[in-house]
Amino acid sequence: MNPVATHTSTNSLATIASELASRIQQRTPPRSPQIHLVPTAGNTQLFVANGSRMYTVSDTIADRFQQLLATGDEAAITTELIALGLDTPVLINDTPLESPKLYALSLAIAQKCNMGCAYCYADQGDFGGPTKNMSLDTAKQSVDLLLKDCTPGSKVQVTFLGGEPLINRNALREATAYAFEQGRQKGIQVNFSLTSNGTLLRADDAGFFEQYGFAVTISLDGIGEQHDRLRPMKGGAGTYAKIIENIQPLLALQRKMQVSARVTVTPLNMDIAKTLQEFVDMGFHSVGFSPLLRSSNGKGEMSPEDLQQMLQGMIECGLLLNNMLSPANAFRS
Ligand code: SF4
Repeated sequence: MNPVATHTSTNSLATIASELASRIQQRTPPRSPQIHLVPTAGNTQLFVANGSRMYTVSDTIADRFQQLLATGDEAAITTELIALGLDTPVLINDTPLESPKLYALSLAIAQKCNMGCAYCYADQGDFGGPTKNMSLDTAKQSVDLLLKDCTPGSKVQVTFLGGEPLINRNALREATAYAFEQGRQKGIQVNFSLTSNGTLLRADDAGFFEQYGFAVTISLDGIGEQHDRLRPMKGGAGTYAKIIENIQPLLALQRKMQVSARVTVTPLNMDIAKTLQEFVDMGFHSVGFSPLLRSSNGKGEMSPEDLQQMLQGMIECGLLLNNMLSPANAFRS
């Protein structure tokens, strides 16, 4: 892709995205727990919360619901839904679900971390308890439990989390090999994933993750200083440069492996279109943005105004990607 071509259009995309975000916000604030009207080009969509159903409705019906929404008369909205034949038994209720079959396992393989992120969900990695590593025995027993009732031909998922999972690299690698071999013997496909802060990655990890086809997610909260402010080491030092250096072998080797960036969005790193552009240019397989709604210490949480600004940024990202994928840019790579 041509970074110049996409960068030069960022300002105008930002303007369009800002306009769209504010239009959507003004035209579709939630007014009823039962329904929501979404005006689109040419018609109106009626969203019925019970069962998350969408219908295209005529102007007459849309007007009638608009009036009922303006009065806030929930009983009349119910009557109108019945008249239209859109009433159904409650599809979503509080009845506990039957325990589903086990298909996925998340192993908190290390309850400790070398970083000190401002908003950490895990009390800087130890979840408020003593720091420790999961033993290989516990990891293997968990894998046995996962595979116990699986039938040949099924697929399961093993995910490694922390703290920082690479602090317990040996157990992670041995548990992976064990799960793969057990799955092979039983005819079960085991898929692997890992979320890491990226600071402890070694060059030889790339070959290991590629061998087992890992989906590797690296937490990165923006470019350079923006990331460093939110995700420093425990002593306060920046981590961005080190992470970018560490991930190069993974980005270069990914075939079966997929390397993604995950951005936790706070009021301090809202420049998400610029971040997306940078990470796509680096070669990440995908980039995910997730707003910080709640943090254990209250730091970095997004306000409703911040979320609107983020919506604007997400629209901008969509326009940017559209631009990158347009035939006009296809030959500039
Ligand atoms: S990398 Fe950051 S968010 Fe993750 S466990 Fe460590 S301190 Fe917490």
